[in-house]
Amino acid sequence: MKRPTILVLGAGYGGLSTVVNLQKSLGTDEADVVLINKNEYHYESTWLHEAAAGTLSPEQVRYDIKSVINEQKVKFIQAEVQAIDVNEKVVTTNVGTHTYDYLVVSLGFEGETFGIPGLDKYALAMANVKAARQIREHIEYQFATWSLEEEKDDSRLTIVVGGAGFSGIELLGELGNRVPELCKEFDVPAEKVRVLCVEAAPMVLPGFDPDLVKYAVSRLEAKGIEFSIGTPVVEATEEGVNIKKGDDEFEFIKAGTVVWAAGVRGNRLIESSGIENMRARVKVDKDLRAPGFSDVFVVGDCALMINEEVNRPFPPTAQIAMQQGEMCAKNIIALLQGRATATFVPDLKGSVCSLGEDDAIGLVFGKKLTGSKASFMKKMVDNRSLFMIGGLGLTIKKGKFNFL
Ligand code: FAD
Ligand code: NAD
Repeated sequence: MKRPTILVLGAGYGGLSTVVNLQKSLGTDEADVVLINKNEYHYESTWLHEAAAGTLSPEQVRYDIKSVINEQKVKFIQAEVQAIDVNEKVVTTNVGTHTYDYLVVSLGFEGETFGIPGLDKYALAMANVKAARQIREHIEYQFATWSLEEEKDDSRLTIVVGGAGFSGIELLGELGNRVPELCKEFDVPAEKVRVLCVEAAPMVLPGFDPDLVKYAVSRLEAKGIEFSIGTPVVEATEEGVNIKKGDDEFEFIKAGTVVWAAGVRGNRLIESSGIENMRARVKVDKDLRAPGFSDVFVVGDCALMINEEVNRPFPPTAQIAMQQGEMCAKNIIALLQGRATATFVPDLKGSVCSLGEDDAIGLVFGKKLTGSKASFMKKMVDNRSLFMIGGLGLTIKKGKFNFL
């Protein structure tokens, strides 16, 4: 009898967690597990702000997928998914088509630009490790060019970060540490550099604990970061961004670098897949299946689940993506063995937001943390995710142990 095929799309936190848990529990003859990912490597999306600022090398942020899979049990195919058709049960990639008995869609996030003119063309985004490397090199190019120019254009040294959510704040924390290094490296006087965060909402890290937010803002301001709050970006051009400061009041900020970190959506391939979705996110059933499709699971940032306590979606995080991967693997195995699937309930341990490698804020098991304690916790969280996927070997190779 033909073995069932489990096709997993995307080797981010959700996809890898699914595959690693499948390979732990399935025998070689129980199913054919096929993992498709665009690159031969996985990158830690949660470290992209470090690669973008240049405080961590792109190499440190990624690792070979084959180093964490058991090739006796999982077939890895490096390919770019181009289309998903859940009605025909076909996935098309740049190297061929695949069919499946069970499909796991874990293709991750894309930056959300809300249709704001010019952002797609002129702003950079921490969308993946290549895009993060481009941000780092773009900033270095601006510093190098300023240094060389006869008639100096100081706006080259202005970096605008759009959005003061967790991604924007973590990037600002790294830039706070990186800019002094760049000034030294490129002979740029520190007072010429401007790093400005523009946030639409009336506060930084909207919805997060006010004391921790206050701490974060004061620490970032001490590193020279400026904030413009309650002033949405309404347009980006080749020269910079236009921000709305009042009913009819706008300010144009000339900037050599604009990084857009103001929200995410699911992977747009979902929109033409035949699965009902909102901004490419699928409101999954309790067992993580796509509504109406008993053979399709969606995990990670492409999935949407409502937190009934607050009647709002759970935020798309790596923490939840990894837990969903684990549950998805359990549920597929249950179906293969003719058992009932289980309900996914996120086990939220808290949130930690780094402010550079030496500082952070966090709310962990309801306890507020700041400074070195929070920073230690952030590194432990980062190491834990490596451990869960690749065990001790991967943790030692890629982990963060600079606790001083
Ligand atoms: P991803 O991790 O995005 O993985 C998707 C995978 O699919 C990638 O390997 C990608 O290459 C692949 N892929 C995409 N398109 C295709 C295609 N067409 N064909 C083939 N392969 C494809 N969350 C936390 O919990 N804690 C944090 O500290 C944290 N920090 C963050 C910091 C930053 C700067 C950012 C941007 C996000 C952070 N997040 C954090 C959120 C977290 O990164 C995401 O929630 C998480 O990455 C989602 O996991 P995923 O598996 O859904 O997708
Ligand atoms: P987000 O949606 O959490 O924050 C985006 C911010 O951009 C918001 O504050 C929003 O008000 C602002 N914004 C929206 N439109 C704007 C505009 N036109 N002009 C200026 N500001 C605008 O998005 P994110 O920060 O990219 O985070 C995405 C997900 O990843 C979240 O779920 C987050 O929790 C998670 N994440 C977690 C961590 C962590 O745990 N350390 C780090 C990064 C990201």
